[in-house]
Amino acid sequence: MPIADIPGTDTDLRNALLDVNLPTLLMVMVHLTGDEQWMSDRYAPAPIMAPEGSLFPDDSGGYSPEISEEIRTAAFELLSRFRRERPELPSPPTLQKMTEMMTFSTAEPVPEDYIAMLLEEPGFVDRDEQWRKPLQESLNGGPVADFNVLIVGAGMSGICIAAKLREAGILFTILDKNAAVGGTWYENTYPDCGVDTPNHIYSYSFERNPNWSGYFSKRDELFAYFESCADKFGLRDSLRLQTEVTAMRYDESSALWHVDVKTSDDSGETLTANVVISAVGQLSRPNLPDIEGLDSFQGPLFHSARWQHEVDLNDKRVAVVGTGCSAVQLLPKTAEIAAKVSVFQRTPHWISPNRDYYRPVEKGLTWALNYIPYYAEWHRARMIFSFSDRAWPAVNVDPDWKYPARAVNEANDGMREALTAYISEQLGDRAALAPKCTPSFPVFGKRLVVDNNWYGTLARENVDLVTEGITRITPLGIETIDGKLHEVDVIVVATGFKSNLFLWPMEIVGRSGTSLAERWGDYPRAFQGTTVPDYPNLFCLYGPNTNIVHGGSIIYQVECQVHYVMQCLVHMIESRVRSMEVREEVNDEYNDQVQAISKTLAWGHPDVNSWYKNSQGHVVNNSPFSLHRFWEVNHDLEIDDYVVNE
Ligand code: NAP
Repeated sequence: MPIADIPGTDTDLRNALLDVNLPTLLMVMVHLTGDEQWMSDRYAPAPIMAPEGSLFPDDSGGYSPEISEEIRTAAFELLSRFRRERPELPSPPTLQKMTEMMTFSTAEPVPEDYIAMLLEEPGFVDRDEQWRKPLQESLNGGPVADFNVLIVGAGMSGICIAAKLREAGILFTILDKNAAVGGTWYENTYPDCGVDTPNHIYSYSFERNPNWSGYFSKRDELFAYFESCADKFGLRDSLRLQTEVTAMRYDESSALWHVDVKTSDDSGETLTANVVISAVGQLSRPNLPDIEGLDSFQGPLFHSARWQHEVDLNDKRVAVVGTGCSAVQLLPKTAEIAAKVSVFQRTPHWISPNRDYYRPVEKGLTWALNYIPYYAEWHRARMIFSFSDRAWPAVNVDPDWKYPARAVNEANDGMREALTAYISEQLGDRAALAPKCTPSFPVFGKRLVVDNNWYGTLARENVDLVTEGITRITPLGIETIDGKLHEVDVIVVATGFKSNLFLWPMEIVGRSGTSLAERWGDYPRAFQGTTVPDYPNLFCLYGPNTNIVHGGSIIYQVECQVHYVMQCLVHMIESRVRSMEVREEVNDEYNDQVQAISKTLAWGHPDVNSWYKNSQGHVVNNSPFSLHRFWEVNHDLEIDDYVVNE
């Protein structure tokens, strides 16, 4: 076991203990000492509850000042002794012990099957062991021979699987159309672009970052994180940037994929691989709105994900089309410098208060995450618990609920009430706008947008909320259905992405010669969001029905999938399998279940029009599962789900 290695001074330690979460600190004390007095009634924390307007639970645990002081003093003595004596650290907790500890520290029962996942997230259980062990046994110390993988995309998902392939010693190349890694965080550079998932869980479980500057970091810091991951996992040698995959064909006789790529000098090349892993994301191809006259506008017009920094918005009249996450994030900073901003809203979104949105991470917490043994692990476990499935009950349709048009169940209706009150409160003098800002669909019909002073910005004198539909764009501006021409100098379209066209525009031809685009249209059906009949040895990360709405981090989802894919690849290597292809009936059964469940969830509600649904109203982007269930579904490969050829 590693040795306790706590640097710094007493003052550092005392300061850190002022900033940490006390129920988490108690778990560290129990873990380091085995002393269960810290789980006695005297130290039982209050249930996890975020104060009004906050996403984060109260760090105090609800203790009196006296008890808080007692915990901090005992922790100081314990950690000072560990610093002096440098003992070996104890082993990670068992399933049973962690169940007891999490149940105590969260003040609610946490079932053992949930804990099985929570043991893996902070690394108390090494989840890679599940594929590492059979791989090592089959290789008997030798390298993986005659097997290579092409990864399409060097964003969050591509880097994640590449890190695991590197660890496994499997040969791979990552291709990316962009000039740098980072995907979304490379491409999106609009004002105030950042993450709306708490950063301490928006990071790989195997590469926690104890040094996030904020609870919700901004784009540059996220981009730097993914760049640093590419370095740390030694991916640069296997990375080909500015290399776009245009097409790929599966050749059954050789069991190889032939992959056509276009390079920056527009020359072409065909690569071959045993396996292709698509890591292109759901939100990488901007959707330009289909509005008459879009090309006729005389000024600059650009998409939020293709921000034109050379266009100076100072004192300009700016139109922002759309009111999704991107528009909400970019509006306040834009309104601060523009002469006037006209916001064109087709549908209002539910927006959640979050007073921690710009909160810097306290120095003491950063110190604790870096240096207090096991603090980062218990912090991660608590964060995953707090921000993953606690909202799940609020998204499930109650068939007996009396007001199904406005909410899916009572808890969901309670959220509607609270968020509706929040709108008027935030609009202040412009409370008359509230009806226009209040969605008709249930809360969680779409992922809650995190408030960054959206309503406060709508209330500014230089901002106009336009809710009349757009009829056309003219050289001078945007014309609405009431005949009014809104004259502007610049148009920003924050109109989302071509999210239903998975893997588009790559032309992907499978075993029988059918293209994936033809098979899918806008109704993609993949097994567990990952594999598709007739397309052997092709794996999709963040594929159909894997997106999350109610909580959690998309990195968590992708790590679940990566774990599954690694088991597939290791099976291919150890059993000398040339190809594996999911059975059609398995895929059908799975997707029928996905659609049946989706109808019982808030985002399947008939009044929700969103990028999650295809033209026929099927939910094709979102996972139908709680985060825990998604972990279970992906945890163990059932090889009988596949036709396997040796
Ligand atoms: P989005 O959620 O798809 O929003 C697009 C907006 O444009 C919607 O308000 C939509 O109206 C509107 N729109 C689309 N076509 C239009 C048209 N022809 N005329 C008028 N309005 C039109 O796109 P997004 O804001 O870029 O966000 C996409 C996803 O990216 C988010 O859901 C989120 O998952 C992710 N994201 C995350 C963050 C983050 O902080 N982590 C930040 C940005 C984005 P309707 O609602 O009526 O369709």
